[in-house]
Amino acid sequence: MIASDFQEIPNIFYSYQTQKPFSECLVCSCYLLDDQIYVIEKALKKHPGYTAQDVIFDYAICLPCALKMREEFSKDTLAKINAYFLEYVVTNPPSHQEDPINIDCCLDHCVVKKTPISEITDYQIYAHFKGNKLIKSLPPYLISQAAIAEVIPLVSSETQDVLNDFYDRHLRPDPAMLLPKHPSDQLVFI
Ligand SMILES: [Zn+2]
Repeated sequence: MIASDFQEIPNIFYSYQTQKPFSECLVCSCYLLDDQIYVIEKALKKHPGYTAQDVIFDYAICLPCALKMREEFSKDTLAKINAYFLEYVVTNPPSHQEDPINIDCCLDHCVVKKTPISEITDYQIYAHFKGNKLIKSLPPYLISQAAIAEVIPLVSSETQDVLNDFYDRHLRPDPAMLLPKHPSDQLVFI
């Protein structure tokens, strides 16, 4: 990665709780803002007629923890999820990128279904970071609940258990989060 591969962390990826950049990995609590590579995932819900959105959950996870988590997924699930996303998620070749990249444009449609955000109520957004910067060559993206619903059947029951366990351990203790009843219906690690 070269220096020009970075830009400021957009506010939309700030922690809902602190309204500041995430500073710790959800799993290992390592400090993120110096040099660590990490992913932020946020699940959001819109209400028709209102501009405010509910944050269902949000967190940052460092790359080593995310990779460890993936190792716990069944091979079958990983292969299916990878196949599903392969053709959709690596979309923008860096040479065609704006500088800085336009976050609103990245997040105004479902990367899988191409549905415009105006027609989506439930969705998740993802982005990759290094220290206190966004990594531009891995542009942020949005996945609608409709696409997630297609991924759920690809997830084996043992992998569902891994996801549910992850939720129970790391997200459920926080009363500020409006967690869904069946957490693995929401969580997709990519
Ligand atoms: Zn970690």
